[in-house]
Amino acid sequence: MAAPDPARDTLAIIGAGPVGLEAAAAALAAGFDVHVFERGDVAAHVQAWGHVPMFTPWRSNVGPAARALLARHGRHVPEDDSCPTGHEFAERVLLPLAATPELAPRVHTHAQVVQVSRRGALRSDAADAPPRADRPFRLLVRDAGGRENLLHAFALLDASGVLGAPCAMGTGGIAARQELYLAPQMSYQCDDVLGLRRARHAGKRTLVVGGGAGAATLVVALAQLAREVPGTSTAWVMRGDGTRLRGERDADPLPARAALFAAARATLDDSSAAITRLTGCEVEAFEYNSATHRYRVQLAHADGARTEEVDQVIGQCGYGAERSVVRELQRAECPRTGGSQALAAALHGAGSRAEELRATLAHLSHPEPGYLEIGARAHARLGAFLLPQGHAHVEVAIAHLATLRDRAS
Ligand SMILES: Cc1cc2nc3c(=O)[nH]c(=O)nc-3n(C[C@H](O)[C@H](O)[C@H](O)COP(=O)(O)OP(=O)(O)OC[C@H]3O[C@@H](n4cnc5c(N)ncnc54)[C@H](O)[C@@H]3O)c2cc1C
Repeated sequence: MAAPDPARDTLAIIGAGPVGLEAAAAALAAGFDVHVFERGDVAAHVQAWGHVPMFTPWRSNVGPAARALLARHGRHVPEDDSCPTGHEFAERVLLPLAATPELAPRVHTHAQVVQVSRRGALRSDAADAPPRADRPFRLLVRDAGGRENLLHAFALLDASGVLGAPCAMGTGGIAARQELYLAPQMSYQCDDVLGLRRARHAGKRTLVVGGGAGAATLVVALAQLAREVPGTSTAWVMRGDGTRLRGERDADPLPARAALFAAARATLDDSSAAITRLTGCEVEAFEYNSATHRYRVQLAHADGARTEEVDQVIGQCGYGAERSVVRELQRAECPRTGGSQALAAALHGAGSRAEELRATLAHLSHPEPGYLEIGARAHARLGAFLLPQGHAHVEVAIAHLATLRDRAS
C-alpha cells in the first residue's frame, strides 16, 4: 500500500477534546490518515473542570464514531440519562478512546499548534493566484521541550475549544487596571474549591466575577465550603441585575442545569452560605497587597464606586477563541463572536433554541478550502454549545472532506 501523501490524504485536527476525538474516530472510519495535535494531555480542558457534574447526560455526551470504536474494543459506555462528572467522562470515554490501537499512534499530546498557513500562499494573495486548495496546510507544531516542527496536511479541523482564552474581568470586556499583571496569580477556571483548591478558599473571602453557569457552580461550592469552614465568604459580582443568569431559562430541557441555577439562587437566601451578591457592577481595578496577600478590588456601579477586599479572585466572564493560531487563514469571522459568521448568524437567529441548532456545511465553512471549525471553537464567544452539536459538526465536516478528497483523486 502506498504511504499516505500529506498533501492529499492527511487530515490534521487541532485539539484532543471530546469533539476533536470524535472527529478523529469518524475520520479513521472514513479512511483518512488522521493526526490529532493536543497541546496538553488528552481532554485537557475537560479535566480542568473534571470535578463538576455535567448537565448533559451520558446518552448525548458520546458521539457515534467514538461509541463504535470503543465498542470494537469491548468497551461499552453508558447510554442513559445520568450525568457524569467531567473526570468520569474523560476516564470512561476520552482517555480510552485516545488509547485505542487505532488512535494511539495518531493522537500527539504535548504538541501545540502554534500557527497555521498554506504552503507557498499568503492570506493576502490575490484571488487569481494559484488555487489555495492545491497547497497543503502547513502547521508549526511545538513540543513540550520547545522544539518546533513543520507538518503538512490537505485538510484541517480546528477543535481547539475556548477554555484557553478566558475573557477579562474589566469593564467592556478588556482587562481591569492591573488585571493583566496579576492574572497569573488569579484564576479564570471553574476551580475545585471543595477539593484540590480547598486550602486557597477555606476561611477566606473569594471574589467571583461573572453571571453564568461557571460562576453559579463556584458560588454553590463556596457556599458549601462556608458551611464547613467558618470564616469562608464570597463576593459575587455580576454585570446584570441578576434577574436571569446567563444560560438560565424557563422550562430548561436539562434538569441538572436548572437545578444548578436554582441552587445558586438559594445560596442568596441562606445566611450560612455567606454570599454577598453585587449586581450591576463591573471591575475597574485590582490592587494586590503583598504584605497581607489580599486584593483591593475597585468596582464601578451606577450608584458610585465600591471597594471589596478579598483573598482570592476567580473570573468567570466567558471564553473566546485563540485567533492567533489561524490568523494567516482566510476566515469569515463574526465580529460579535469570533466564530464562523454564518454559524453565528444562524445561532443568533435561533434565539433561545440556539442549543438545538444543528449546523450545516454552509454554517461551518470558511473561504479557506479544506478548513472547518468544529466543537466549542465554532461557537466561540457565543457559547450556547452542547456536545450533540459538536457531534453534528463532525458528521458534516468529515462528509465534506471525504467529498473533497474523492474529487481530487
Ligand atoms: C464547568 C463546565 C461544565 C461544562 N459542562 C458541559 C456539559 O455538561 N455538557 C456539554 O455539552 N458541555 C459542557 N461544557 C462545555 C464543554 O467544555 C464542551 O462541551 C466540550 O469540552 C467541548 O469540546 P471540544 O472538543 O469542542 O473542546 P475542548 O474540550 O475545549 O477541547 C479542546 C482541546 O484543544 C486543545 N488545544 C487548544 N488549543 C490548542 C493548540 N493550539 N494546539 C493543540 N491543542 C490545542 C486543548 O488543550 C483541549 O484539550 C462545560 C464547560 C465547563 C467549563
